[in-house]
Amino acid sequence: MHYTIKFPAGQTEYFLNANYSQLLQVAPVNNAIIITDENIHRHYGHLFTQYRVLIIDAGESSKSWETIQQLAEKLIHFDVHKTSVLVGVGGGVVCDITGFLATIYMRGIAFAFAPTTLLAMVDASIGGKNGVNVGLNKNILGTIKQPRFILFDNSFLETLSDEEWSSGFAEVIKYACIGDAVLFEQLSQSSIVNFQNNPAELNRLIASCVMQKNRIVLEDEQEKNIRKTLNFGHTAGHAFETLCYLKHGHAVALGMILSLIASEMVLDFPKDIRPKFTALLLRYNLPVQLKFEVEKVLKIILHDKKRNNEFIDFVLLKDIGQSVVHPLSFEAIRSALQIFLDEYQP
Ligand code: ADP
Ligand code: ZN
Repeated sequence: MHYTIKFPAGQTEYFLNANYSQLLQVAPVNNAIIITDENIHRHYGHLFTQYRVLIIDAGESSKSWETIQQLAEKLIHFDVHKTSVLVGVGGGVVCDITGFLATIYMRGIAFAFAPTTLLAMVDASIGGKNGVNVGLNKNILGTIKQPRFILFDNSFLETLSDEEWSSGFAEVIKYACIGDAVLFEQLSQSSIVNFQNNPAELNRLIASCVMQKNRIVLEDEQEKNIRKTLNFGHTAGHAFETLCYLKHGHAVALGMILSLIASEMVLDFPKDIRPKFTALLLRYNLPVQLKFEVEKVLKIILHDKKRNNEFIDFVLLKDIGQSVVHPLSFEAIRSALQIFLDEYQP
């Protein structure tokens, strides 16, 4: 399935349920450079021998200014110019780096993605946010620019680890919580294995997440209002991720539990939903327990980009499928973190 989405500045071609070999048509070998990581190169390097390839170390620690600098030097060495295109083949890390580098190299050249993780397919590759971390500050340097195309070849997922599958499902569950109660019910009846064994169902799931995210991004590309809801579970999640060295999706799962606690505190979110939610997380092999120091988590949250004087904008739920952005005082966040510890400490 192929369709085009027109954003205010530029458009993105979506090739869903596609085959990697189509890359040759959309990214000519003479002006495309592939950026990937060592693991993906080990599995799939044979697929892109015709291209010039830049390989980064796998993992979040590559999302740094240093990597950008090193890659820029290689682009200069390759004589990459204004009409070249950088193609990120990889997970969220590769997509973030590729997009960021492309938007600043020579004041901006084209870029595109072939996402290879579920998380990148349903979330990281879509919406045009690109960036790197500085110290503990995630995505603190970044840009918003849409890729030229995104090519989804679901067969990449065959080599994905169990941990990465569950990490991706955290973002799928996020979409269900913020805007799709029907999806929440469907997920409650299904499982990772079920999706792995049903390519058509997996493809429908990926397509529906892509469309939900694009609907939101089209309405609010610059994240002035509704796009903020995509950060559900991420404010505390990023702090857990940084402090406890968790996979992104696993940290977001725990961050979503915290958001439900806060939603109960300030929005009368029905208390009987939280056990159903944690059961759903467990069904998708996601964690529901964590030990942490409240003050350390708070400190990281206070540095969050969503800070607004003495309040932090949190995405809360009124019900499954109904999200709102709500300012929370530091005290309220501290109380929610304490309830989390009381109820979910291992
Ligand atoms: P994410 O997409 O979860 O944000 P990363 O880009 O860090 O995160 O990818 C997660 C890990 O999975 C990395 O170690 C990466 O090398 C590896 N990886 C990515 N895609 C695949 C794949 N298709 N098969 C096997 N490993 C992969
Ligand atoms: Zn995320």
